[in-house]
Amino acid sequence: MYRLITVAGKAALEYEGQYFDLATLSAEPQWGDPMYAVAHHDELHEWSTRCGDATPTGSLADVTLGPPVPVPRQVFGIGLNYRDHAQETGAQLPPAPLTFTKYPSCIAGPTASIPLSGETVDWEVELVAVVGQTARHVSRESAWDYLAGLTLGQDISDRTVQRAGVPPQFNLGKSFENYGPTGPALVSLDSFPDLLDIGLDCDVDGSTMQSASSAQMIFDIPTLVAYLSSIVTLYPGDLIFTGTPAGVGAARGTFLRPGSVLTSRADVIGSLRNECVAGQAPLDVSA
Ligand code: ZN
Repeated sequence: MYRLITVAGKAALEYEGQYFDLATLSAEPQWGDPMYAVAHHDELHEWSTRCGDATPTGSLADVTLGPPVPVPRQVFGIGLNYRDHAQETGAQLPPAPLTFTKYPSCIAGPTASIPLSGETVDWEVELVAVVGQTARHVSRESAWDYLAGLTLGQDISDRTVQRAGVPPQFNLGKSFENYGPTGPALVSLDSFPDLLDIGLDCDVDGSTMQSASSAQMIFDIPTLVAYLSSIVTLYPGDLIFTGTPAGVGAARGTFLRPGSVLTSRADVIGSLRNECVAGQAPLDVSA
């Protein structure tokens, strides 16, 4: 079992309220690179067992965590992957995973502030699958073997930008600065009692907005990995935002405002806390 985090851009292991800088723990500088650590995740189990006898780098309470996977090569988002969320949007159930990209530059840490790009910016709490090794034409049965673990994310979405145009293109509306908070840790798969039944929820200013189990997914995580890998090559560190349950702001007619505090939680993984601040609207280039 392990919980991989980043502190000041360096890979570290979380262990009993402390963190252990991986380059120091291993005495091998390459382990300081979070992307190296993800690609060599099999060895993290062993490093984690050594934390009990090692000197911690510091206390988790004293540091601000970055995203556990700071520079993924590819970031996939899956739309309408929970039946109740598909129903609240009035959309038909997709015949295959409805896939878009969040550009990797939107990835942020678990306590990053979110600059709002407009008045229709929305929350979407999601489990995020982290690819651990290169995957191409992977079967559903073997799909878990290709993951380094799971983390939690928010697929922050500017609904106006997301829906502009015919046909609409989701990618930019979901890729503003810090529209992909993730963390607090990349958690190994053996940490979960049931990989297909993980509770997740989010609240805005203390009011619960979403609360569900990943058991409600239409396409479960192994199916997503198998499907995506049948089309594109997946690389270590790639993130798959696996879809959001019901309760988004668009269905409620309410959105994030400057000062809103968005809190997201998932079983075993932990929580994100993101404060919203005023941001900049996209350039108006309409003729
Ligand atoms: Zn989403």
